[in-house]
Amino acid sequence: MPRFRLYPTPVQEQQMLLHCAHARYVWNLAVEQHTYWRPSRRSAPGFVEQCRQLTEARRESAWLAAGNADVQQQALKDFTTAKNARFTSGFGEPTWRRKHVHEGFRVIGTDRVPEFEPDGSAKLNAKGQQVMGRSVAVQRLNRRWARVKVPACGWVRFRLTRAELPAAKTFRVTFRNGQWHIAFAVVPKPIAPPTTGEVLGIDRGVTITAALSDGRKLNCPQLTVKERAQIRKHQRRAARAPKGSEAKAAEYARVARLKAREANRRKDWCEKTSTMLARTCQLVRFEKLNIKNMTRSAKGTVEQPGKNVRPKAGLNRCILAQGWGLLRQRTEQKAPGRVEDVPAPFTSLRCSACGWIEKKSRKSQAYFVCVSCGFTCNADENASINVAAGQGGIPRPRRTAGAGGVTTATSRSSAREPQPAWVGIRLF
Ligand SMILES: [Zn+2]
Repeated sequence: MPRFRLYPTPVQEQQMLLHCAHARYVWNLAVEQHTYWRPSRRSAPGFVEQCRQLTEARRESAWLAAGNADVQQQALKDFTTAKNARFTSGFGEPTWRRKHVHEGFRVIGTDRVPEFEPDGSAKLNAKGQQVMGRSVAVQRLNRRWARVKVPACGWVRFRLTRAELPAAKTFRVTFRNGQWHIAFAVVPKPIAPPTTGEVLGIDRGVTITAALSDGRKLNCPQLTVKERAQIRKHQRRAARAPKGSEAKAAEYARVARLKAREANRRKDWCEKTSTMLARTCQLVRFEKLNIKNMTRSAKGTVEQPGKNVRPKAGLNRCILAQGWGLLRQRTEQKAPGRVEDVPAPFTSLRCSACGWIEKKSRKSQAYFVCVSCGFTCNADENASINVAAGQGGIPRPRRTAGAGGVTTATSRSSAREPQPAWVGIRLF
């Protein structure tokens, strides 16, 4: 999905915002139709029926009719795709789009190109005629700039940050935090594995974002101290501005822009790191983390308020700022079939040299000294070596003792860790 920064002129910008409004309106209508559905009622209209209704609606509404039919139809197409993928996409049911928040629209290319079968022969329809597909009109202006045709806007310039021009059937334009972007709908080919056969383990943490088993320590860039102070300053000013005032909105926009900068940095880091991993490693092993459970709020309920709510919220923010999930996801997409999950328990307590599992071995956040063999290492690096070896996934000791009895947890909990001999780890 090659994505570029788009630079429209002010006139083009107005037209594109109108496209966004039309797409949002049509999408929200589709959402409303589908929320009306109940098990006893007839099924909600599908894409074809919705397109027919759109034509009718365009006849009645001058505002809709003034817009581009392709843009409106593609909003319905997007809705259908989102609806069909609701169980697998991770986003669930498609929901409402809001002004200033979800600004964007999809455009289908206007150029016609002949389509081909996978074996290279021309694709023919039932009458034996050549099937023509759509293609986006893109032109290169020079080494750094290119332009794309957007309906009713003409040619819009974008910053070309890749060597070759993207060839796509459709593209999506988004407007977020005052910036326009264009993303061409192309699924890139997976990155070819290296021939060295290297297996790499990755331990993700808060202090070190990703500790690799070859000793490298990678850190996800965060906001600087100065930038964080700026965020606090603008939040303070926003809080003191009169309710509903323009100043308040402007201050919040500044906060949003700074936070977007952090997200951009994180994304950029994840993309570069996952490409590096896919290029240099045959097999990448991550420890299995349930980030959703790890970052659950400690707030509790009104009747049973939780403890340490603020520190936990801070930790959650730190965890989410590391981009753990994104790194794993993008590596998997770039190197399909070459990413494995290793169960996380005990990866940080197991000695990577002798296999002894002992809580006391981890002296502090950073130091690991094996109580059995004296092996000394950085704790995160030790964990990543365990992950690379696929070790650590040992079931917890059973709490139940025989006939329904429960053994009580004692303060000597480290003695209750599974002993290497009976969990099948070879001792030297
Ligand atoms: Zn050891």
